[in-house]
Amino acid sequence: MHPMLKPALRRAWRGRNTVQFGVTRAHAVKLGPVDIATGSFLELLDGTRGLPLLREEARALDLPGPQVDTLVRRLADAGLIDDVRAGGPEADALRNRTDVLERQRPDLASLSVVHPEPGGGLRRLAARRSMRVQVRGAGRVGAAIAALLSGSGVGRVEVLDGGLAEPSDVAPGGLPATAVGERRDTAARQLVRRSAVGPAPRATETAGTAAAGTRGSGVPVLGDAANGGPGLSLVVVAPRDGLAVYAPDPRAAESWIASGIPHLYAGVIEATGVVGPLVLPGGTACAGCLELARADRDPQWPRMLAQWRSGRRNAVQACDLGLATAVAGLAAAHALAFLDGELPATTGARWEAALPLLDWRSEQIGAHLGCFCGAGGHTVGERTSVLDAAHDTMAG
Ligand SMILES: [Zn+2]
Repeated sequence: MHPMLKPALRRAWRGRNTVQFGVTRAHAVKLGPVDIATGSFLELLDGTRGLPLLREEARALDLPGPQVDTLVRRLADAGLIDDVRAGGPEADALRNRTDVLERQRPDLASLSVVHPEPGGGLRRLAARRSMRVQVRGAGRVGAAIAALLSGSGVGRVEVLDGGLAEPSDVAPGGLPATAVGERRDTAARQLVRRSAVGPAPRATETAGTAAAGTRGSGVPVLGDAANGGPGLSLVVVAPRDGLAVYAPDPRAAESWIASGIPHLYAGVIEATGVVGPLVLPGGTACAGCLELARADRDPQWPRMLAQWRSGRRNAVQACDLGLATAVAGLAAAHALAFLDGELPATTGARWEAALPLLDWRSEQIGAHLGCFCGAGGHTVGERTSVLDAAHDTMAG
């Protein structure tokens, strides 16, 4: 082990003998009491020394070896230590890709703050490279999500959409103006390639992890790998028609529910941005649960929904560029948190922000007992175990 204090966390002395690592409430940690010798020793934890050398140099500071071991262990338990050599074989492979790593340093630093164990950040960043995500929709929101996921190191990002790109699809971070008139899916694929931090991993690079059934982060790998690639880790549903996000059609999600593929909805309808729910099939509320609950609350809802869905709309869809970009960013961050092994706040919930106030609000979406997905049949205890199962191997 070559311990290094996580450089992403700013350090400050709180009074004379307490050190605070980190600024914000979410991740700040206080360490104390810290005497002057220990304070000086902290400066040695920069990843250039192994434990034997650290013990030797600590003797010059009058810190005995056992105290060094205890301190390093305490720091590691507090999530403050990274190990520049840990993370496993996939992480080692990524360490050799300095071009990729240089670009992703901020992402890696962020992961190191979120995940406490030494080497945990790099392990997750490396695991992203063998993941496969499908984004359905290449409009302002969908294309930007695909680009963000690709730029964040997800190895395989597929985009599905029909028709030709229109001027209204163009967005900074999404399809460029030169894509107008090209097939949307082709243009989106080029965008994904341009946004990627490096070439996609070769099939042989991912074969080992695909066989194991889980990614390095513990996210279940589902679906088949008939085309030689890994199964789908996640589908992001980001259609150009915001109604298909606000009131998603349960039939469109049937195959994902049946094959257990997690899926996340994101889009803009009228002047409202929507992110979520992230559906863990059989574990959390799905599009069907959402529709049934809405009909319970508003008996006229199905009648209106049928009209909205059947009507051919040629009118321009409202889609504020700032809101669309915020939705894309938030959706990509939730997708990445999930791929990295967490259950973000969209799991079984939906976040909405409406112009002009834009105050994000969340609504829990309960699993419906009448829904075909079966999530409503779980008791609270069982449901928790389904959630646990999705990420059980995360700590491994
Ligand atoms: Zn359901």
